[in-house]
Amino acid sequence: MGDVPDKILTWQMVQPTVRDRDTGEVTPGRLEKTEIPVPELGAGDVLVKVAGCGVCHTDLGYFFDGVPTVSKPPLTLGHEISGTVVAGDERWVGKEVLIPAVMPCRQCHLCKTRRGNRCLNQKMPGNSIGIYGGFSSHIPVPSIDLCEIRDRQGIPLEHLAVVADAATTPFQAARRAQLEIGDDVIVIGVGGVGQYMVQEVKALGARTVIAVDIVEERLQKMLDYGADFVIDATGKGPRDVAGEVKAIRKQGGLPAYGWKIFECTGTKPGQETALALLSFTGKLIVVGFGMAKVEYSISRLMAFDAELIGTWGCLPEYYPQVLEMVLTGKVALEPFVQTRPMSTIAETFEEAHRTPPDRRIVLVPDF
Ligand SMILES: [Zn+2]
Ligand SMILES: [Zn+2]
Repeated sequence: MGDVPDKILTWQMVQPTVRDRDTGEVTPGRLEKTEIPVPELGAGDVLVKVAGCGVCHTDLGYFFDGVPTVSKPPLTLGHEISGTVVAGDERWVGKEVLIPAVMPCRQCHLCKTRRGNRCLNQKMPGNSIGIYGGFSSHIPVPSIDLCEIRDRQGIPLEHLAVVADAATTPFQAARRAQLEIGDDVIVIGVGGVGQYMVQEVKALGARTVIAVDIVEERLQKMLDYGADFVIDATGKGPRDVAGEVKAIRKQGGLPAYGWKIFECTGTKPGQETALALLSFTGKLIVVGFGMAKVEYSISRLMAFDAELIGTWGCLPEYYPQVLEMVLTGKVALEPFVQTRPMSTIAETFEEAHRTPPDRRIVLVPDF
């Protein structure tokens, strides 16, 4: 096994961006190339050579916006990882794998009652204590949660990294919503996660999918990938968007009840729009994360017999199903992904923080 390294090369977040509360002064965050020893692998552990690690909105939150990591800096970020097993558990060596973004403990009550995606003892690469991050040459992980990639149909292994988070989170969200064949769906925000939300609800049998965003090109693209209707919300308020949805409903003879709304932006306007669209027997599933507060008359839930639901990560058990959807072409990945050398991590973070990219950026190790 000539691929087994004597050390791990990694881009550590030495310090996140710090904003002084009183003066407003900003000390920029710092990423540094570092060498760390390869740890002793425990029973059942493997060492994965990273093929690619996606840059997630969550990483940018840790680096720029004061969202605290559980393991304190210095630490390596990155939780959207694909790669090849190079050492450890014999049965896995040589296999190409996805590393789930959250790995449940499998022991607790939540894990035993199928809520392991929100297990309180879960490990998340690039965040939790006792696990490394993906912006590295290699990462040690427990093999039990790995998703094996058997035949990747010519899709580059590094592109498949996005299945580890961006493409699996929507699947869990659809499960959480108890999505059924024939459902009518609205997806707010078709960026990194929403693009897959649209494709997956369609692949799972949704009758109608309306995509809402403020970037016209993104919306036009989604018409080729699962959206039946699009609404450009630029300069429009929640009521305006609701009016357009109503017009679509009338035009298509669709019901005024039972719509499932997936909010993927985590922004205040996105959330306000989602709440305005929630109606009789509908469900609003909160997929995106943000810090804004919104006002809502929760008695509307009672009057509508409606539900407001959160969703977090994805159970490792669902990964093979999502991978299958990608490998059989039900969910397209290639038009929504781009790669860059990992050495561009600092510029890439800056750029992605300034303008969320239309195509997910996967960083490829080039140490
Ligand atoms: Zn993420
Ligand atoms: Zn657990």
